[in-house]
Amino acid sequence: TREQITYFGAGPALLPSTVLETAAEALVNYNNTGLGLAEHSHRSELATNILNETKTDLAKYLDVPDDYEILFMQGGGSGEFSATVYNLVNVWVARRKQKILKELNIPEGKEIPEDVLLKELQKAVDEELKVDYLVTGSWSLKASQEAARLIGPEHVNIVADARKVNDGKFGKIPEESTWKLSKNPAMVYYCDNETVDGVEISGFPEVLKPTGGEDDPIVVADMSSNILSRRIPVKNFSLIFFGAQKNLGSTGITVVIIKKSLLPPAVATLAPTLLRKLGLPIGPIVFSYETIAKNNSLYNTLSIFDVYIAGQVLKKLLQTFPDKVDGQQKLADQKAKLIYAALDKYPESYKIVPDKNARSRMNICFRVTHLASGIDESERTFLKGATDQGLTGLKGHRSVGGIRASNYNSISLEGAEKLAKYIEEYAQGPK
Ligand code: PMP
Repeated sequence: TREQITYFGAGPALLPSTVLETAAEALVNYNNTGLGLAEHSHRSELATNILNETKTDLAKYLDVPDDYEILFMQGGGSGEFSATVYNLVNVWVARRKQKILKELNIPEGKEIPEDVLLKELQKAVDEELKVDYLVTGSWSLKASQEAARLIGPEHVNIVADARKVNDGKFGKIPEESTWKLSKNPAMVYYCDNETVDGVEISGFPEVLKPTGGEDDPIVVADMSSNILSRRIPVKNFSLIFFGAQKNLGSTGITVVIIKKSLLPPAVATLAPTLLRKLGLPIGPIVFSYETIAKNNSLYNTLSIFDVYIAGQVLKKLLQTFPDKVDGQQKLADQKAKLIYAALDKYPESYKIVPDKNARSRMNICFRVTHLASGIDESERTFLKGATDQGLTGLKGHRSVGGIRASNYNSISLEGAEKLAKYIEEYAQGPK
């Protein structure tokens, strides 16, 4: 039964049973309307209420300042690998256009001959356009590869590649002093928690901290696997995105928290015709932040049912933790500590994959070296023993192997305790 299982899968992840039970009812007959939530129009009043309430609760839980917009999108974290590039490159060029007009003393609202503008812009794009990526694991690597595919590798700057400081493998965060940031890039992108490699950046990078000046970096973070698990200084970011399916809700919606200064009217984004002439990619309209923001996330059909599930999770979190995300952070830290402590206690039986100061609280990756017959056999027996106790979803990502315990919000303290106990018991067993 559901009660007998603690599921440590990396995503989709466990959802609170009470939320699923409420959602199951809503799926059949929402609030006695005789229709289920997946059947109601996304433009109905009740849908709008669910959407707005979920936005408000998310902003409340994370203390998202008023000068940020929350968007619900589709296409997952992977979709955002592309969307961030399309949108922020456009913002970069649009701002550059403003600068050029200013330099040429063109009054606001007045245009200059297109060929003059194009020549200046093309020069800026060719010589200066960069997107910066900090590569600390397979997801930030993928995002950087997508950027190279869309705008060309010559425009992608790898700030640091964690494999270079760790024998070709992910598992360390390169020292900030070694990061090679571009001058005025369209964004500096990083992944706050690398789900496959078990690496987490523990705080906002010092070198990216804003000073309030015009040249502050545009910082973009993928928080798909650690959002809602620790307090984040939202105001330091230009954009944060995450798929809902790990710490927030069900698969199907992707959340973008974006600074309003990156949206019209603060920036007048460039028209597709101009982008085309500059050889820059034009993103699908459903990936346009401007379009999604203008339509309160209802440009096209959004899965209100998935928004509802996220909303219910947030209501539960707000009820459980009066101090909001700080409360969840304490619990997440406590659970991770328990599991790492059990692993650290038996260095002969387990090898934790990442460096100590890069250890993720969300995805705990380790190898089992317990049996004399080798790692494969050790991991096989470890997993089998775990399954027998109802501890499931522990197999590591197919690309790296090993064991991965995903310690997302829905894993209870008891669940983490059970896993820690099993880790100890297994290590004490026959070799
Ligand atoms: N970023 C991170 C950190 C992830 O863990 C994942 C998926 N596990 C993705 C991006 C990709 O998300 P999606 O599968 O929703 O496209």
